[in-house]
Amino acid sequence: MSHFGPAARQESMTKIVDSDVVVIGGGLAGLAAAALVAQAGKSVTVFESRSTLGGQARSSTHGGFTFNRGPHALYLGGAGERILRQLGVKISGGQPAVNGKFAFNNTLEVAPAGPVSLMRTGALSAKGKLAIGKLLARLPKIDPATLAGTSVTDWIGQCVNGDREADMLHALVRLATYVNEPAVLSAEVAVSQLQMALDKGVLYLDHGWQSLVDQLRATPGVDLVTGETIAELPHARAVILATGSPDSAAQLLGATFDVGPPAVASCLDLGLATKPEQNFVLGGDVPFYFSNHSAVAQLAPPGKHYAAAVQYLGADDEPDGDALSAFAELAGARDIVESRRLHRMTTVTAISTAANGGFRGRPSVTDTGFGNVFLAGDWVGSEGHLADASFASAYGAATAAMAQWR
Ligand SMILES: Cc1cc2nc3c(=O)[nH]c(=O)nc-3n(C[C@H](O)[C@H](O)[C@H](O)COP(=O)(O)OP(=O)(O)OC[C@H]3O[C@@H](n4cnc5c(N)ncnc54)[C@H](O)[C@@H]3O)c2cc1C
Repeated sequence: MSHFGPAARQESMTKIVDSDVVVIGGGLAGLAAAALVAQAGKSVTVFESRSTLGGQARSSTHGGFTFNRGPHALYLGGAGERILRQLGVKISGGQPAVNGKFAFNNTLEVAPAGPVSLMRTGALSAKGKLAIGKLLARLPKIDPATLAGTSVTDWIGQCVNGDREADMLHALVRLATYVNEPAVLSAEVAVSQLQMALDKGVLYLDHGWQSLVDQLRATPGVDLVTGETIAELPHARAVILATGSPDSAAQLLGATFDVGPPAVASCLDLGLATKPEQNFVLGGDVPFYFSNHSAVAQLAPPGKHYAAAVQYLGADDEPDGDALSAFAELAGARDIVESRRLHRMTTVTAISTAANGGFRGRPSVTDTGFGNVFLAGDWVGSEGHLADASFASAYGAATAAMAQWR
């Protein structure tokens, strides 16, 4: 199925660049694609409109604390890890412990992370424990592709009966997907993310995701131009559009893409002088998350702590700063010495919807209408979610670009 709808397609490519391949966008997708092209021996130039590289994966320092642009976790076993390792990028960090708390009615309950905690938790009735236990045992065996056309709401309805169990399952889906649109999101995405989280887990990165950006940008043979916005397709043997969203790519192509809506979250980064009481709290009946990332990764000065809280926003939700702060307080975050609010962050630029058939419903890397122009981003290609999709499509776009020489 083609997602590409030519609108007022441009007749010519204007800017002439003296490189084999031009990459537009210097986020993870653009940098990874450029590094792959350079590794394959072709000259490549990346154009980034901001003065700094990294896009959504850049980190900044605040009073000695490293803040990502909202809390980030690298899914182990995903496309990101695979491609970063292929590029020789060192991935250092720690895995958060799977035990933590669920918040229901402003009360913290043991999260059912395994058989023992499932038995102990006060969050579920005996019947609920049985239902969630059965589901957790069955989850690794589900083929996510069979759920591509099923919404998360429908899938949850098929899995559990009680409201509490449904809330708990949806909270886990929000956590694993960064999406709070259960009626829209394909259950294929939810199940594949939950499977990765339960199988190998995630990694919080030392010194933030900037550590990935810094290593990718240092790949020999990649020419980097910052502070330059590309407004028209440039002349080059191959062009990779890694501009971060379907809209910005569509603008350059003079086209439209039939994709899902974005997912949005409101984020609070906290530098703390004392360790928070809880390392991890997930809202069960409210769409909030809290995690002490510095418990396992170097993100804070010695003796201090970095934690993050998130409000997952649905299409009609407004960011609620007071509620977000109250949730961090419920998790025992005290002695705040640095803080930053990011009110509305686009976590996923186009949700893989059940209506579009899940991952396979996304545009492909070649879906541009030009034989030498390719797409990369979290909304492109049939593999992965969040940054994994950016990396997987970067690989696909770099491979397609290199095929111009065959
Ligand atoms: C709050 C938050 C939390 C997240 N948590 C996770 C997580 O835990 N795990 C995970 O895997 N992913 C997570 N993500 C998603 C991840 O950050 C993104 O998927 C990834 O960084 C996107 O990379 P990208 O290169 O595709 O796009 P971007 O990072 O958006 O990069 C695109 C770049 O292109 C540039 N650009 C655009 N147009 C032009 C132009 N015309 N000319 C030149 N430059 C241009 C932009 O300035 C930008 O730098 C999170 C995102 C957010 C916002």
